[in-house]
Amino acid sequence: MKTITTDFEYLPATTVEEALDLLSQHKDDDYKVIAGGQSLNTAMKHRLIAPEFIIDIKGLSDLDYIKFDDQEGLKIGALATHRSLEKSPIVREKYPVLCEMEENVASVETRNWGTVAGDLCNADPAVDPGPPLIALDAKMKVASKDEERTVDAEEFALDFFETVVQPGEMLKEIQIPVLPPNTGAYFTKYSQIHGDYALASVAVSITLDKKKEACTNARIGLGGVGVKPIRAKKAEEVLKGKKITEALLAEAAEVAKTEISPVSGIEGSADYKRELAGTLLKRVGKEALARAQKA
Ligand SMILES: Cc1cc2nc3c(=O)[nH]c(=O)nc-3n(C[C@H](O)[C@H](O)[C@H](O)COP(=O)(O)OP(=O)(O)OC[C@H]3O[C@@H](n4cnc5c(N)ncnc54)[C@H](O)[C@@H]3O)c2cc1C
Repeated sequence: MKTITTDFEYLPATTVEEALDLLSQHKDDDYKVIAGGQSLNTAMKHRLIAPEFIIDIKGLSDLDYIKFDDQEGLKIGALATHRSLEKSPIVREKYPVLCEMEENVASVETRNWGTVAGDLCNADPAVDPGPPLIALDAKMKVASKDEERTVDAEEFALDFFETVVQPGEMLKEIQIPVLPPNTGAYFTKYSQIHGDYALASVAVSITLDKKKEACTNARIGLGGVGVKPIRAKKAEEVLKGKKITEALLAEAAEVAKTEISPVSGIEGSADYKRELAGTLLKRVGKEALARAQKA
């Protein structure tokens, strides 16, 4: 039997350059990055993992930002916490769906320590920011010492607790474009206890034409109903180019149910989660539409 040792070498970084150097030096070692520690400490405490090196990026104040401009949209640095996103006035004004999503992530204590990037890198299939970032067409900037690359939000997670971030890399920034005119977005999750991970969650973004009649674009993200957050592209097609009605949303919900692969667990069967996702999609789509009409 393998003995799990709890000893590790602690390697704090205070600048992005230092962090990327450490990642490069240890890319072939058994290491973990730590930011707020909310997921990592739990995994280590339960002896699920026992890395030999811990690279601490919490001190990277240069990545602790949330900034917006009219051309490039919103940029969320890797050290921005859930709480700072929830409380950001510019995010509340431009992307209220993100603040609403954050209000139901875990507890205030966890949101104070936990970073949005760390939540996405931990890659729980029900990660709350996953679906809204898909609906808002976000890109994830991943960096190593030698290069930077951007990945679409729906491509970031690969599987249960696995992402595209490779050894030697870190998630550096989350980028969200400026929303087109006449766009409304909404998110909701269903969990048995307030602040818990979702059994199912849905985010929808709808853009209407100038007359606010036909839907020119729709994006749908779902969480908790597969091994990772899922973009329901076929359901989006149902809505595009048409006047959105409750019947059309019901049709889109039926199509979305064919695009997800929920897993049965003690909290609910796969069938239950599939039905739940469909029901949430109809409600969320209706609210996103109302917001697009008012935008
Ligand atoms: C009790 C509890 C309830 C929770 N409920 C919810 C919930 O309802 N919804 C939800 O979405 N989340 C929930 N979470 C998860 C929580 O949001 C995350 O634990 C937190 O956001 C992770 O961020 P962190 O900075 O603490 O990351 P850490 O715990 O430090 O790291 C998490 C993982 O990401 C990696 N990592 C961190 N930052 C980076 C980076 N920049 N680049 C590459 N890898 C990185 C680490 O190596 C580690 O594998 C809950 C957590 C707890 C403890």
